[in-house]
Amino acid sequence: MKLYNTKSRTIEEFIPHNNKEITMYTCGPTVYHFAHIGNLRSYIMEDILEKSLKFNGYNVKRCMNITDVGHLSSDADTGEDKMLMGAKREHKSVLDIASYYEDCFKKDCEKLNIAWPKIVVRATSYIDEYIKIISKLLDTGYAYFSNGNVYFDTSKLDNYYVLTNHNEDDLLEGVRDSVEADSNKRNKTDFVLWFTKSKFDDQELKWDSPWGVGYPGWHIECSAISLKNLGEYLDIHCGGVDNIFPHHTNEIAQSESYIGHPWCKYWFHVEHLNDASGKMSKSKGEFLTVSLLESKGYNPLAYRMFCLQSHYRKQLLFSYDSLDGVSNAYNKLISKIKSISHDDSIVDEDIYLDYRNKFLECLNDDLNTSNALTVLYDVLKDDINNNTKLALVSEFDKVLSLDLLKNDDRVIDNEEYIKEMIEKRNTAKKNKDFALADSIRDELKNKGIILKDTREGTTYEVIK
Ligand code: AMP
Ligand code: ZN
Repeated sequence: MKLYNTKSRTIEEFIPHNNKEITMYTCGPTVYHFAHIGNLRSYIMEDILEKSLKFNGYNVKRCMNITDVGHLSSDADTGEDKMLMGAKREHKSVLDIASYYEDCFKKDCEKLNIAWPKIVVRATSYIDEYIKIISKLLDTGYAYFSNGNVYFDTSKLDNYYVLTNHNEDDLLEGVRDSVEADSNKRNKTDFVLWFTKSKFDDQELKWDSPWGVGYPGWHIECSAISLKNLGEYLDIHCGGVDNIFPHHTNEIAQSESYIGHPWCKYWFHVEHLNDASGKMSKSKGEFLTVSLLESKGYNPLAYRMFCLQSHYRKQLLFSYDSLDGVSNAYNKLISKIKSISHDDSIVDEDIYLDYRNKFLECLNDDLNTSNALTVLYDVLKDDINNNTKLALVSEFDKVLSLDLLKNDDRVIDNEEYIKEMIEKRNTAKKNKDFALADSIRDELKNKGIILKDTREGTTYEVIK
């Protein structure tokens, strides 16, 4: 598989650290508000990445954090904790806000067929891990204590800007939201590992630490959660492009200083979804959420298809007009697939493998999802038998996850159900009720399940 690696700024052949299992880390949401559909573009494309790796035959161990503490309103360590802002806005506790919006995020993921990662960790549950890492960074001279806070000392690194071409001037731009520079920092690029002092003394969640009662900085959570769950050699780290600097840059600084060797090989970043006014924001009144799209009558999966039609490394402009276009295309696609009936045709293995390879080639070409969709349309147009078409549609949907066959009650790949039906048919045959036995076989056939009576008993094949 070829993937663009932000670290090398080139498209590289993906070679995992361990062929048996790929480790993948995703920066999770800051759960102080609903996710906007821009955030969800990143998660959709990360989902496509995970499913494409699986389509290539890899096992993937994926971990994601839920940020419920420490993400300040300015990336330069000077703003208020976003969680606290959410709690104040809604007159609730931070923990209530966190669990409510985590739940909403999970529901959005379900609606968009984004698989929930195997391991999901709330930032507030790993305080001991942060303390362990920060303590070692202090012992080894990579961190320092200054006026109540612990900072990472970026001057200790040969090259801090490993993901970007930032220079000091760009950095100033990167932190332009900051209210004022933090005079406790030795270097402009230093960042907070542990706060005991900030201008916002009403921080709700605080923990005891060797440096006083306080709370962790945002970046340390992803390093600690990833290292603990995925080990010291991470294959892929994902996020939206805004995470490149400073978040991921800081993650690399602290993780590699802590473990003493290179950490993550591939950095995968999704470009932003913008609206007509520019960057999406959660502070602009009614912002674009999945529920808003649903309330306007859109199927969330039409939005998923909207994302798949363009390349993840290109900025994408959202408009209702373009979503309308994709929505129509999506509905047509579903009805086209519904019109293909199961018949007696046998899946043509050569054609099947040929198209599967074409589809895989698109995915392996730095996740070219729009070309992958074109292969799907080619299958539907081609003069090939129905069961081959349906089998391919089902195979492609393992990655596209557009529910291309889900609402199609002809296809049921449910082992329990099939076994139960086979049992019923066996009983009918024993009772010499051949009419019932045949009707059960026909019913299954209509659902794409072909029974085969062998000397060892009845087996089945699901033709999707
Ligand atoms: P947050 O909840 O702010 O921590 O962001 C969650 C994820 O959404 C991160 O990976 C961000 O990089 C990503 N993200 C933020 N804004 C956008 C956007 N407009 N388009 C795509 N991804 C975004
Ligand atoms: Zn992160």
